[in-house]
Amino acid sequence: MSLQQRDKDVNWHPYTQMKIAEDTIPIVKGKGVYLFDNQGNRYIDAVSSWWVTIHGHAHPYIAQKVSEQLNTLEQVIFAGFTHEPAVQLSENLLSLLPDNQQKVFYSDNGSTAVEVALKMCIQYWYNQGKKKTKILAFKDAYHGDTFGAMSVSGRSVWTKPFGEMLFEVIFMDTPTSENLNDLKAIIQNHSQEIACFIYEPLIQGAAGMLMHKAEDLSVLMKICREQKVLMIQDEVFTGFGRTGKLFAANYLSEKPDIMCFSKGLTGGTMPMGITTSSNEIFEAFLSDDKYKTLFHGHSFTANPLACTAALASMELLLKEDTLTHIKLIYEKHLNFSKTLQQHPKVENVRLIGTILAWEIKNDKQTSYFNEIGKISYNEFLKRGIIMRPLGNVMYLVPPYCITSEELDLVYKNILEVMDYL
Ligand SMILES: *Cc1c(COP(=O)(O)O)cnc(C)c1O
Repeated sequence: MSLQQRDKDVNWHPYTQMKIAEDTIPIVKGKGVYLFDNQGNRYIDAVSSWWVTIHGHAHPYIAQKVSEQLNTLEQVIFAGFTHEPAVQLSENLLSLLPDNQQKVFYSDNGSTAVEVALKMCIQYWYNQGKKKTKILAFKDAYHGDTFGAMSVSGRSVWTKPFGEMLFEVIFMDTPTSENLNDLKAIIQNHSQEIACFIYEPLIQGAAGMLMHKAEDLSVLMKICREQKVLMIQDEVFTGFGRTGKLFAANYLSEKPDIMCFSKGLTGGTMPMGITTSSNEIFEAFLSDDKYKTLFHGHSFTANPLACTAALASMELLLKEDTLTHIKLIYEKHLNFSKTLQQHPKVENVRLIGTILAWEIKNDKQTSYFNEIGKISYNEFLKRGIIMRPLGNVMYLVPPYCITSEELDLVYKNILEVMDYL
């Protein structure tokens, strides 16, 4: 029996309508920017395998470090125990973040990093005897698929079946130079009941790579600070070089109270989430009263293998060569974006760092279910490129190791596929 058939018999895939799903592609090997299937075809992974694989697949340095760690200490309970990789990773990460970030809490993925952040904020007020339980978020936000993360995400087809069970969130538009005063009023009017404001900084990924300006977001953050609304900056997607700087935080003039990380954290090799917090948040949980503890933890909290992978990945990220490559991707994207802007089928071209996105004009609405997504997905596959358009929104989120020639090949194929559409 083929692997596809065996897969069909037992596996339920993410974000997949299993009734009409096409056969899955069995991948047997990854190397750098390439994935290889069991028929000997190779694909350029232009979406970094759902935005996680920042240094390319099967990176030998990360593999070597994880392998050493696997033979030394693979796992230990993180309540009452610690280990070198967790301490070193926390030290290294905090040294790169805004200086108010002082403590690291480990979990398993982006969604759990968000859950932890929300619990920190709500309990921060609870521990001080204040009732502030509402959350402020952007329309079209995406913060993950667990219930808390879903609640603070924009209401969409993805959350619809659970609508009545999601907790109360005040949604507002992303900032523009025009609406800043309106948004300011929303924050001021609700500040007494709002526990925190959660946002994807600069770019809303899953919503279709929607971008807003750092200056405008900084203004909102300043108002939150003045109004004592805590800020959760979800850098699950933007972290670790994706936007051209190490973190989206590096574009902003205000500092968040809490930050969330995952995706690129381990270089895409292993699942891990991190929530960092300021000392002020941390100190609200310090008490002789045991009820004020943050009662949260996962079996694999601070797994030594994942910490080791993250340490190795961050070491690679900070190398001169990697940073130069990130810049090269940006410059090539910038150049190609000019071609796209001239293209009769293209509108709303947008770019930040290594992320390039644009929309295919069509008579239907911009939507996740727009069939252009599926048609072009298959056309790209035929041409040996993995792209995963969000409906009629096309985007590139390549691993940083992609070469100039490989990018040119991807661009050439994009133009061909758009001719075909
Ligand atoms: C992907 C994503 C998440 C969820 O992360 P998972 O690891 O998939 O649970 C949360 N926030 C943002 C901004 C994301 O892009």
